[in-house]
Amino acid sequence: MNIEQKADKMRQEYLAQDRDRLVFNDFQKALPRLRQTALYDLFRRMPKGRLMHAHIEATFDLRHMLSLALSCPDVYVFTAPETSEFRNMQLAHKAWFEGEIPAGWENLRQAVAARPELKEKIFVMCTSDKENIDENIWPKFEAIFDRFKAINNYEPFFVSLYTEVMMRMAEEGLMGVDFRYISQTIFDEDGRRLSPDEYVDLVRGIAAKVRESYPWFHVNLIYSYYKGVPADTVPERLAFARHLQEKYPDVFIGFDMVGDEDCGKDLRYYAPVLKDAGVPVIMHAGESLKEDNRNIEYALELGIKRLGHGMNLYRYPEVEKKVKEAGVMLEVCPLSNQLLGYVPDLSQHPAAGYIKRGLNVTISSDDCAIFDTSFITDDLLLAYLCWNLSIADIKRCLQNSLQADSELLSLFEEQWETFISQ
Ligand SMILES: [Zn+2]
Repeated sequence: MNIEQKADKMRQEYLAQDRDRLVFNDFQKALPRLRQTALYDLFRRMPKGRLMHAHIEATFDLRHMLSLALSCPDVYVFTAPETSEFRNMQLAHKAWFEGEIPAGWENLRQAVAARPELKEKIFVMCTSDKENIDENIWPKFEAIFDRFKAINNYEPFFVSLYTEVMMRMAEEGLMGVDFRYISQTIFDEDGRRLSPDEYVDLVRGIAAKVRESYPWFHVNLIYSYYKGVPADTVPERLAFARHLQEKYPDVFIGFDMVGDEDCGKDLRYYAPVLKDAGVPVIMHAGESLKEDNRNIEYALELGIKRLGHGMNLYRYPEVEKKVKEAGVMLEVCPLSNQLLGYVPDLSQHPAAGYIKRGLNVTISSDDCAIFDTSFITDDLLLAYLCWNLSIADIKRCLQNSLQADSELLSLFEEQWETFISQ
């Protein structure tokens, strides 16, 4: 049997015993069992290309973060009812407060020693599952990011967390990652706030360390801002993006605007400022169920070559034709789409059709810390299981992530040959 036949046999066997269709409808419940299978092992060992769509703020190992937090005597947890300033179960390092610890915060170690169930509660409050899906999903989802920003951005934790992230990405077979990031303020032991440039220096430094073990591993940054903001606040961010492009041409690759696309301001609203961006624009577009969301079309009018999600493209055949002709890359994130309520049944995800119709599809994990998924293996395998893809289809998606780099593409081919021969 060749790899196609072997993998398909394992797929049929797995699906036959999944009588509740968990893998389609509630993959988080299916994953513990799925991860024990030989099919999972095959996907884990597969070379992966690059991860094209991941938000750095939500790409880390939550368990690692919690163990770092518990190992430090200076971490606090907000256990009082939510306020406009603080989230329930939010974590913070002492240095973040720049002074006295406000009311409502308890020392984490002492709190967990007295109430061990808090640890599980923090984990649950930092993740998202199908129970969370309702009309308030976006505010709830965005609130999760607040729960770990005051701990992950503590410089020593940041370095520890993201060294582990990049090392594990490389171990998972990834050759690199394009991280979206929103201006983050790193702070040190004394509470000093690092400058936005120092943030980039820190990420580049971590990536350089990882390259000592994995010489091909490379990190790019996509500077991001929020959808929904007034258009006249965007030029200032674009000016900063141009500064990054000039100062850090080795990592800076573009500008994006993230968040709920159905916030009332579409891409046409931002077009006057984005058309003269002066930097490549890479945009989340089409992550919507609204019948009148035409963001992909507006993105194409801006000359955009890469789309985050592109989910609702199937609604507009004439736009899909243009996307295909122009070779626009779709950064598809299947598991994110399910957990944010866009695809109740993964088998109905439109990207199955995009792949079959030869569009330039890549597969990513979006916010793996919050979804409690792997960097890419879970999304790839679930796509294989639920979309009836071939291994050749999967390989093409991985190759698509490397199309800008012929050297990496040939390295990937070598890795793939070794993988097949094993
Ligand atoms: Zn995203």
